[in-house]
Amino acid sequence: MLTSALEQGKVSCHTCGKVESDTLPSCQRCGTALHHRKPQSVQRCLAYLFASIVAYIPANIWPIMEVSQIGGIEDSTILGGVATFWEMKAYPVAITIFVASVLIPGLKLLALAWLCLLAQGKVRMNPKQATRIYWLTELVGRWSMVDVFVVAVLVALIQLGNLMSVTPGTAAISFGLMVILTMFASHSFDPRLIWDRLRQTEQPSS
Ligand SMILES: [Zn+2]
Repeated sequence: MLTSALEQGKVSCHTCGKVESDTLPSCQRCGTALHHRKPQSVQRCLAYLFASIVAYIPANIWPIMEVSQIGGIEDSTILGGVATFWEMKAYPVAITIFVASVLIPGLKLLALAWLCLLAQGKVRMNPKQATRIYWLTELVGRWSMVDVFVVAVLVALIQLGNLMSVTPGTAAISFGLMVILTMFASHSFDPRLIWDRLRQTEQPSS
């Protein structure tokens, strides 16, 4: 097995990527403090994860938008919105909202929890696959705000004064918060911990 930078006494700067000797306290080029691994990575990731689970529940229970029209005010949750679009036979919209707002955030929370367990050696998995899972959670982060965009577009489009109007509901705030917290969670996780764990468990080959 190849030696890691950690074993060779090298450390790379988190900000500019310069590789330095680990005897230096900060990067010679940009002055950022140098660490072998992100400090307290798993603990920070878990803390953000729990906070985002707390935000995920009201995001799905509370109304994401309020439609006021002549008949009165009607609240709509995310799943209620999916059902409405499905009944209107707008299947691609219903599927997009369900996948982007319910399925992907849920899977992302599960994936990050799994990676934290893996980094602590509680579960085992092929590190290549685990690194790919981490890459996916980073990739989908910015695309899971679709529901907030849908509400924003509807609010902008449907402002017919006294006849009908759409306003964002309380869940929109907790939904946005949940997305931001999961982005922080996946950013604070250091994927190199997966490989460190492998090195610790594997016997040295030579
Ligand atoms: Zn630097």
